[in-house]
Amino acid sequence: MQVPRNWRLQKQRYSLIGEVCEHCGVKLFPPRDVCPECSHGAQTLYQFTGIGNIHSFSQVFDPPNGHIENTPFIVALIKLEEGPMITAQLTDIDIEQVEIGMEVEMVTRKMSDDGVEGMIVYGYKFRPPVVD
Ligand SMILES: [Zn+2]
Repeated sequence: MQVPRNWRLQKQRYSLIGEVCEHCGVKLFPPRDVCPECSHGAQTLYQFTGIGNIHSFSQVFDPPNGHIENTPFIVALIKLEEGPMITAQLTDIDIEQVEIGMEVEMVTRKMSDDGVEGMIVYGYKFRPPVVD
Protein backbone atom coordinates (compact mmCIF):
# COMPACT_ATOMS: atom_id res chain seq x y z
CA MET A 1 0.00 0.00 0.00
CA GLN A 2 1.31 3.39 -0.95
CA VAL A 3 1.00 5.90 1.84
CA PRO A 4 1.14 9.52 0.72
CA ARG A 5 3.92 10.91 2.87
CA ASN A 6 4.45 14.31 1.38
CA TRP A 7 1.08 15.93 1.20
CA ARG A 8 1.32 17.24 4.75
CA LEU A 9 4.91 18.42 4.62
CA GLN A 10 4.04 21.97 3.75
CA LYS A 11 1.92 22.20 6.87
CA GLN A 12 4.47 20.61 9.12
CA ARG A 13 6.17 23.73 10.34
CA TYR A 14 2.82 24.92 11.62
CA SER A 15 2.26 21.78 13.60
CA LEU A 16 3.03 20.53 17.04
CA ILE A 17 5.21 17.46 17.25
CA GLY A 18 4.68 15.37 20.35
CA GLU A 19 4.73 11.69 21.09
CA VAL A 20 2.22 8.86 21.28
CA CYS A 21 2.38 5.93 23.70
CA GLU A 22 2.08 2.77 21.64
CA HIS A 23 1.17 0.82 24.75
CA CYS A 24 -2.02 2.67 25.75
CA GLY A 25 -2.48 5.25 23.00
CA VAL A 26 -2.10 8.37 25.14
CA LYS A 27 -0.73 11.33 23.20
CA LEU A 28 1.94 13.44 24.86
CA PHE A 29 2.79 17.07 24.50
CA PRO A 30 5.36 18.27 25.17
CA PRO A 31 7.38 15.11 24.42
CA ARG A 32 8.62 13.48 27.61
CA ASP A 33 9.52 9.98 26.38
CA VAL A 34 7.67 8.24 29.22
CA CYS A 35 3.90 7.78 29.23
CA PRO A 36 2.31 9.46 32.29
CA GLU A 37 -0.60 7.00 32.17
CA CYS A 38 1.13 3.64 32.01
CA SER A 39 4.82 4.47 32.56
CA HIS A 40 5.88 2.71 29.37
CA GLY A 41 8.33 4.33 27.03
CA ALA A 42 6.64 6.67 24.56
CA GLN A 43 9.06 7.86 21.92
CA THR A 44 7.00 7.54 18.77
CA LEU A 45 6.60 10.97 17.23
CA TYR A 46 3.09 12.22 16.77
CA GLN A 47 1.97 15.29 14.88
CA PHE A 48 -0.79 17.25 16.54
CA THR A 49 -3.25 19.31 14.54
CA GLY A 50 -2.58 22.43 16.59
CA ILE A 51 -6.31 22.87 17.20
CA GLY A 52 -7.63 23.13 20.71
CA ASN A 53 -10.00 24.89 23.08
CA ILE A 54 -9.27 27.45 25.76
CA HIS A 55 -9.62 25.82 29.16
CA SER A 56 -8.62 28.83 31.19
CA PHE A 57 -6.70 32.05 30.64
CA SER A 58 -5.15 34.95 32.43
CA GLN A 59 -3.58 38.24 31.61
CA VAL A 60 0.05 38.66 32.59
CA PHE A 61 1.05 42.10 33.77
CA ASP A 62 4.21 41.22 35.65
CA PRO A 63 6.09 38.54 33.72
CA PRO A 64 9.23 36.91 35.09
CA ASN A 65 12.68 37.67 33.75
CA GLY A 66 12.01 41.14 32.46
CA HIS A 67 9.66 40.50 29.55
CA ILE A 68 8.38 44.01 29.90
CA GLU A 69 7.91 45.27 26.38
CA ASN A 70 4.98 43.07 25.41
CA THR A 71 2.95 43.32 28.59
CA PRO A 72 0.23 42.78 29.27
CA PHE A 73 -0.19 39.59 27.33
CA ILE A 74 -2.56 36.67 27.59
CA VAL A 75 -1.52 33.18 28.63
CA ALA A 76 -4.03 30.36 28.22
CA LEU A 77 -4.29 26.75 29.24
CA ILE A 78 -5.36 25.04 26.03
CA LYS A 79 -6.79 21.56 25.71
CA LEU A 80 -5.65 20.12 22.40
CA GLU A 81 -8.24 18.13 20.50
CA GLU A 82 -6.04 15.05 20.95
CA GLY A 83 -6.20 15.44 24.74
CA PRO A 84 -3.06 17.06 26.16
CA MET A 85 -3.26 20.39 27.95
CA ILE A 86 -0.60 22.96 27.18
CA THR A 87 0.11 26.49 28.29
CA ALA A 88 0.74 29.03 25.58
CA GLN A 89 0.48 32.69 24.83
CA LEU A 90 -2.49 33.94 22.83
CA THR A 91 -1.99 36.32 19.94
CA ASP A 92 -4.14 38.31 17.52
CA ILE A 93 -6.86 38.72 20.14
CA ASP A 94 -7.82 41.14 22.88
CA ILE A 95 -8.55 39.98 26.40
CA GLU A 96 -12.17 41.11 26.02
CA GLN A 97 -12.63 38.64 23.15
CA VAL A 98 -11.24 35.59 24.93
CA GLU A 99 -13.81 33.06 26.12
CA ILE A 100 -13.53 29.72 27.89
CA GLY A 101 -14.15 26.96 25.36
CA MET A 102 -13.20 29.12 22.39
CA GLU A 103 -11.46 27.23 19.59
CA VAL A 104 -7.93 28.32 18.84
CA GLU A 105 -5.27 27.24 16.40
CA MET A 106 -1.51 27.22 16.69
CA VAL A 107 0.63 29.66 14.79
CA THR A 108 4.38 29.85 14.81
CA ARG A 109 5.99 33.19 15.46
CA LYS A 110 9.54 34.42 15.25
CA MET A 111 10.50 34.57 18.87
CA SER A 112 13.36 36.97 18.29
CA ASP A 113 11.00 39.51 16.78
CA ASP A 114 8.67 39.20 19.72
CA GLY A 115 11.44 39.51 22.26
CA VAL A 116 9.63 37.28 24.72
CA GLU A 117 11.41 34.01 24.05
CA GLY A 118 11.32 33.03 27.70
CA MET A 119 7.54 32.78 27.75
CA ILE A 120 7.22 30.97 24.43
CA VAL A 121 9.19 27.90 25.21
CA TYR A 122 8.22 26.02 22.08
CA GLY A 123 8.01 28.88 19.65
CA TYR A 124 4.28 28.89 19.13
CA LYS A 125 1.27 30.92 20.09
CA PHE A 126 -2.42 30.31 19.65
CA ARG A 127 -4.98 32.52 17.98
CA PRO A 128 -8.64 32.29 17.02
CA PRO A 129 -9.15 30.58 13.65
CA VAL A 130 -9.23 33.07 10.83
CA VAL A 131 -12.81 33.55 9.67
CA ASP A 132 -13.42 34.65 6.10
ZN1 LIG B 1 0.87 4.65 27.93
